[in-house]
Amino acid sequence: MPIILHSKGSRERKANIMNNHVFYPVLNKKYPLIVKAEGIYQWDDTGKRYTDACCGAVVSGIGHGVKEINDAIKSQLDEVAFAHRFKFTNRPVQELAALIAELAPADINWVSFMSGGSEATETAMKMAREYWIEKGIPSKYKVIARWQSYHGNTLGALSMSGHLARRRRYAPMLAAFPHAAPCYCYRCPFFKQSSDCGLECVQNIEEIICQEGPENVAAVIVEPVVGSTLGAAPPRDGYMQELRRICDKYDVLFISDEVMTGMGRTGKIFAVEHWDILPDMICLAKGVSGGYAPLGAVAVREKIHAAFRNGSGRFAHGFTFGGNPLAAAAGVAVIRYVLDHRLADAAAQRGQSLLDKLTALQAKYPAIGDVRGLGLMTGIEFVADRSTKQPFDPTLSLTDKIVSKALENGLMLYGSAQCADGIQGDAVMIAPPLITTEEQLDEIVYLLDKTLEQVLPA
Ligand code: PLP
Repeated sequence: MPIILHSKGSRERKANIMNNHVFYPVLNKKYPLIVKAEGIYQWDDTGKRYTDACCGAVVSGIGHGVKEINDAIKSQLDEVAFAHRFKFTNRPVQELAALIAELAPADINWVSFMSGGSEATETAMKMAREYWIEKGIPSKYKVIARWQSYHGNTLGALSMSGHLARRRRYAPMLAAFPHAAPCYCYRCPFFKQSSDCGLECVQNIEEIICQEGPENVAAVIVEPVVGSTLGAAPPRDGYMQELRRICDKYDVLFISDEVMTGMGRTGKIFAVEHWDILPDMICLAKGVSGGYAPLGAVAVREKIHAAFRNGSGRFAHGFTFGGNPLAAAAGVAVIRYVLDHRLADAAAQRGQSLLDKLTALQAKYPAIGDVRGLGLMTGIEFVADRSTKQPFDPTLSLTDKIVSKALENGLMLYGSAQCADGIQGDAVMIAPPLITTEEQLDEIVYLLDKTLEQVLPA
């Protein structure tokens, strides 16, 4: 059959219709063309300025256009851009691993690299599986996660993710990993109040470990503060410590997915430091390179590295771009910037101020049901009725409307739609760069207020 080439004219017409040839996530939408970025702002090609109140997807922790980072990447580019990880090591990857090991709690001393968050959680899942094979207990393979969680979009990561809307289309292709109740105090799955809470949600993880049989369970994975699927929901006091105790009791690995919370976002370099617990693995991405390069990492305890070292001597899984010198150079420069500018402390301080400002906004809008968060990872959940916590009708797509209207107003927000149960519920996250000043927080809240006035029912 002959191949019919389109004429140039018809190709141009097609390109105009589709904006260009990029296969965008939302096909009937015209995306603004970003041409400049500096601090907490980005500009499109018409000169319109956007205030980045969510770091894209909680990525750009140190803000945009930082010269030191650009210089570090350029200088690495002049030395070597790529060296394959099976044959070589490189200076920035060694430096980055040493830096993460130094900052991570206790004996979390070994770091594996990849290009993003899904690759990080997928790696943690497979490393947990291989760890038990190395230890001579090959029956352990299941990973327990929680409902209303997000651990990434590759099939392994999505199998762990407990978000109905994101799973639905791929459901037949997912591994049958068990899911426990979320720690979601605003809508407690056990209908408890703060006064009579017995941490039933963490007990639920213990029950599931027992139902599945501890001899089959490799790991439990949790986001310390649940991000995109729960709109910045921190755990209740005692939850993380109790989870550590349960994992120890049944010989199950504890994976802390800090893809969103890592590198200062919550007011500590790693969120687990808030509860003084030692996970067995920490997954990182997003803030670890602040968006300057695609980078992910899994940092693990001595016992995990030792199992491989003293066992087969190999960890089979990995990706071509794992340990890429350019990405690692970006990571080193970004972490140094976070440390030099004490950005974790800044996040703690500004985060409290932001929570106060958002709580003040709650007095104006009855539709704001909850304001929550930790450090500069904050969220607000919207309800049709504050007294019953009834969510808005999901066909209204309220979260999308708020996020789009905000963008029109020059404000970037991160939507956490379907937060109530994976089907309904509306929330947005406000998680600006850790360099945000008090005046810029006021500007963000002003634009948010303006947006809510335009979108929320009177
Ligand atoms: N884990 C968490 C907690 C996340 O928030 C995300 C992304 O939002 C991921 C994993 C997946 O990261 P990526 O989009 O870089 O693959």
